[in-house]
Amino acid sequence: MKYAVIGAGLIGSAAARHMALAGLDVTLIGPGEPADLRSHAGVFGSHYDEGRITRGLDPMPFWSRASRASIARYGEIEAASGIRFYSEVGCLMAGPEGSSKMAAIDEVAARDALSCEYFDRDALARRFPYFAFPDGATGRFEAVGAGHISPRSLVRAQLTAGVAAGVQHLAEEVTGFDDGPDGVTLHCASGPRVFDRVLMATGGFSDALIGSVLPMEVYGRTVALFELEEAEAARLASMPSLIWQDPDRDNPYLLPPIRYPDGKVYVKLGYDPEDILLRDTADVKAWFRSEGTPGVADQIEAMIRDRMPDLAIAGRRVVTCVTSYTPNQLPHLKALSDRVFTAIGGCGRAAKNSDELGRLGAVIVSGGALPDWAVEAG
Ligand SMILES: Cc1cc2nc3c(=O)[nH]c(=O)nc-3n(C[C@H](O)[C@H](O)[C@H](O)COP(=O)(O)OP(=O)(O)OC[C@H]3O[C@@H](n4cnc5c(N)ncnc54)[C@H](O)[C@@H]3O)c2cc1C
Repeated sequence: MKYAVIGAGLIGSAAARHMALAGLDVTLIGPGEPADLRSHAGVFGSHYDEGRITRGLDPMPFWSRASRASIARYGEIEAASGIRFYSEVGCLMAGPEGSSKMAAIDEVAARDALSCEYFDRDALARRFPYFAFPDGATGRFEAVGAGHISPRSLVRAQLTAGVAAGVQHLAEEVTGFDDGPDGVTLHCASGPRVFDRVLMATGGFSDALIGSVLPMEVYGRTVALFELEEAEAARLASMPSLIWQDPDRDNPYLLPPIRYPDGKVYVKLGYDPEDILLRDTADVKAWFRSEGTPGVADQIEAMIRDRMPDLAIAGRRVVTCVTSYTPNQLPHLKALSDRVFTAIGGCGRAAKNSDELGRLGAVIVSGGALPDWAVEAG
């Protein structure tokens, strides 16, 4: 049987690797990162970055389970590819003691038997002197199995390990498909190709291939990267990832100093005050080519100052990205027919656990059933 995975992003590259390891004949079809985002006319990916927080703690059991399964395999993927993508610097969740968000974290840590160190405000100040927290703040620190990954390097690692295991990679776009009795014909730039079964892992560009068959909303995100001089980066060398559990709004999250392909070191704060709904593929492409929402970077800079008032910022860069949400906040691990399957809908949290989402996609496309803990996504 001939299998195809469409989309060489985080989930698709993982799915293809798992399928090759299972001995299947698999072709992964999808382009790499464009050289120039502003002039690119094709599809984009949500992994063109160097920092994504990873952690086991997640209030939703599905995501926690998928994340922990993936984190447990990071070492195996690094060893098979020779590419490092994981920094186990830990992840700190901090917020007002007694708030419902902090109580939920304690419940989740107990539910999943995750080891988290507890810090009161004074202990937070001693252990993480570069952060500032308001009176009454406390923290839970997941020191092991948490930190950050480079999504770019993870995709490269999955591709390298996948190709070594037998994945054939075709770096081009699929512009459409026909699901017929004799197989699924994919329309690729190099011509039509027929497969017995196909897994779509096309992220924010899924509607171009499957329309609105599955409900999913794609939102534009504006991200600000703050450049640091080398000495400032060295001062923050022990900084973990931080998620501030804001009682009044979405949680801003902060990544520690990370070196980017331009050779510079940046810290990143993620927070978007506004959900920018992108209605179709043309909107999503235009968003990736844009400068994001004007003014958001100033708001983000004010928020980073709240948490890191002494941070010496040497420069600022704004980048755009998209996240795809399903109505129940779970991915679509679905069968669209006997031959066509999906692994889409990362709900803003599917970098860290993409290896397990890819594995689950590989299970369904090859005729297997989702495990009990994951059936709600099917
Ligand atoms: C600003 C931001 C911050 C985030 N922070 C975190 C975080 O801290 N932790 C975390 O776990 N997650 C985080 N996420 C979420 C995470 O990055 C996404 O959930 C993840 O990238 C989804 O993976 P994917 O494989 O579905 O999509 P992608 O990685 O976007 O891959 C989809 C791939 O499909 C390809 N494709 C699309 N259409 C076609 C086609 N027709 N033919 C061929 N190929 C096609 C694209 O080129 C792309 O490579 C963040 C996301 C954003 C935007």
